[in-house]
Amino acid sequence: MLNATTAEHTERKALRINPAKTCQPIGALYAALGIHKCLPHSHGSQGCCAYHRSQLTRHFKEPVMATTSSFTEGASVFGGLSNMTQALTNIFGIYQPDVVAVHTTCLSEVIGDDIPMMFKKFREDGKLPEGAQLIHANTPSFKGSHVTGFANMTAAMARYLSERSGEVRDQLNLIPGYLDPADMREVKRLATEIGARFVMFPDTSDVLDTPQVGRFEMYPKGGATVAQIRSAGDSFATLGLGFWASEAAAKELESKCEVPYEMGELPIGLGATDAFVDAIRRLAAKSVPANIERERGQLIDLMSDMSQYLHRKRVAVFGDPDHVIPLVRFLVELDMRPAYVVTGTPGKAFEENVRQLLGPAGADAKVKAYEDLFSLHQWMKAEPVDLLIGNTYGKYIARAEGNLPFVRFGFPILDRVAHRYFPTVGYRGAMRLIAAMTDALLDQKDRECPEEFFELVQ
Ligand code: SF4
Repeated sequence: MLNATTAEHTERKALRINPAKTCQPIGALYAALGIHKCLPHSHGSQGCCAYHRSQLTRHFKEPVMATTSSFTEGASVFGGLSNMTQALTNIFGIYQPDVVAVHTTCLSEVIGDDIPMMFKKFREDGKLPEGAQLIHANTPSFKGSHVTGFANMTAAMARYLSERSGEVRDQLNLIPGYLDPADMREVKRLATEIGARFVMFPDTSDVLDTPQVGRFEMYPKGGATVAQIRSAGDSFATLGLGFWASEAAAKELESKCEVPYEMGELPIGLGATDAFVDAIRRLAAKSVPANIERERGQLIDLMSDMSQYLHRKRVAVFGDPDHVIPLVRFLVELDMRPAYVVTGTPGKAFEENVRQLLGPAGADAKVKAYEDLFSLHQWMKAEPVDLLIGNTYGKYIARAEGNLPFVRFGFPILDRVAHRYFPTVGYRGAMRLIAAMTDALLDQKDRECPEEFFELVQ
């Protein structure tokens, strides 16, 4: 399908072709699912909500619940107050959530709907059930990306729900960033094994990776409870993972509840996981247990065993900035050569961060934020790579480039299964990434090498 892509690249400002991002509400909806008994609500027209739900359902292979204000022409002209009021009345009457997390869409942003005013009226009219919570995030899709939406909704959790009682608790806040449920579970496992006491939000483990129990559960057992998020205001510190997705919430906790924070990369690869483990150990005043050291040793063993296949391989990487930055760090640790590094999410810091990781040896690499997959493909045509890493949309480029080895990584992955069960973070996740990259390269060798080099043992 992309066979007609040419190698001649032209700088474009006003046109995006095959964007490497999606719209803000998808991230906001996903974050809201990380609150226990929360129903995400899309304030806009039905089509937006249907798209956001279907994209998340396709990635997680789980039904994703969300409601909509169902704008028609009337709401688009006169505002969505009556649609919101009717929607909230129906939601609490029929589905009885603990929390409704409202995100806006392009349409409600353009007409300028005032969500806090709508909440105030709903409350003053006595329609909000006792103990129920309303939170909201503004998520205009003509700005930022799904990562921005995730960040805005996570910050809204702190803004609306966290409280400072005056008594500091012996607990750390963990803000895990835009991760799959298996990754969130792995972050919790590592922190628990180190012995840290923590509260983590959002938390989609046990929400979007639930077992088959033979009946539909509207609200699975997972997710951070309102009480847990409230108590985050009393924690002694916050550790946010991923600057794009988590810093806004960490800042909110600092300004509202005076909880100091520090930020780190998502624990993808060796160095970033070392930094995460060290931060948890230091903040919780614990030591690293032997089994985590053992996992680290296994990763290093695998890195040295597989370096014969991976070293000096040229790689093209695209995805969300919080994922791509530590991934590039890992590729450099593996002595691979990231040649093209792209994110669709805006932010100058992305390019600075990646350039710093690549160092002088990577001076020729093309690194761009707010870039699209068409440009990436054109660069690859002009100067090919050995491996492509990115979400499902990369498969079109891989196919057009003669079935180039391709590793699916990040969001969304729409055409493969089980990624929500297996982490890519932590030392174990890094081992899984090495296995995926090596398998992709060896599969290509098996497919294409002459008969005399077709080996049983690689
Ligand atoms: S980009 Fe805007 S209009 Fe399109 S689906 Fe997203 S929120 Fe809706």
